[in-house]
Amino acid sequence: MTVGSPTLRAVFLGPPGAGKGTQAQRLAKEHRVLHVSTGDMLRQEVAGGSDLGRRAKGFMDAGQLVPDEVITAMLLARIQAPDASRAWILDGFPRTLPQAHSLDRSLQAEGIELSHAVDFEVPSDVLVQRLSGRRTCARCGSIWNVHSKPPRQPGKCDACGGELTQRADDRPDAVSKRLQVYAAQTAPVLDHYRAKEILVEIDADRPPEVVYENLMEVIAKPAG
Ligand code: AMP
Repeated sequence: MTVGSPTLRAVFLGPPGAGKGTQAQRLAKEHRVLHVSTGDMLRQEVAGGSDLGRRAKGFMDAGQLVPDEVITAMLLARIQAPDASRAWILDGFPRTLPQAHSLDRSLQAEGIELSHAVDFEVPSDVLVQRLSGRRTCARCGSIWNVHSKPPRQPGKCDACGGELTQRADDRPDAVSKRLQVYAAQTAPVLDHYRAKEILVEIDADRPPEVVYENLMEVIAKPAG
């Protein structure tokens, strides 16, 4: 399969816990696609103690969105970097209509078109279960789940032996807040891409390998 012709420029949408990150990681590894996760970028800023990280942390821990101007500046700078001239996927951006409009303007100025907006659909009761069981490797970022994808040794990453941690925003209060925020602020972004005829919907309430096969099918052809 070629994801480079025409070049894949996709946004991955869907509620927290829908598996966007897992699918994006695999696609990036197997097809030399740049994976840009705004959540991962922010967590790195927080871990590094930067000004941006300090500004973002309170919003993130409470399950709220980081202000549009902060996240948009960070994301647009990332996709203008030299290594972003190849195929890419944006995982977790845009999450509001103003973010989607900023991305449109920036891409238009560079003569780039989004190829696909992929919406990973999962019912909310399944999301709560997935998020509460999710553990992330502090060292390599691999994602595990104590219910559905447990590591061989509890608390340790199978891939690199790093320590598995629970994100502060995967705790119950923050999870329900994030699902509310998604419904109020991010769901309208789907209509934006539907109107542009690049939205493709994937049933993500299936095993990850089945979802991945479906993803391969949808990105192998033009959206719409
Ligand atoms: P994620 O790992 O994608 O679930 O993102 C974790 C957290 O980072 C979110 O709950 C937000 O607080 C923040 N975040 C990530 N992407 C965005 C975005 N596009 N807009 C605003 N906040 C974001």
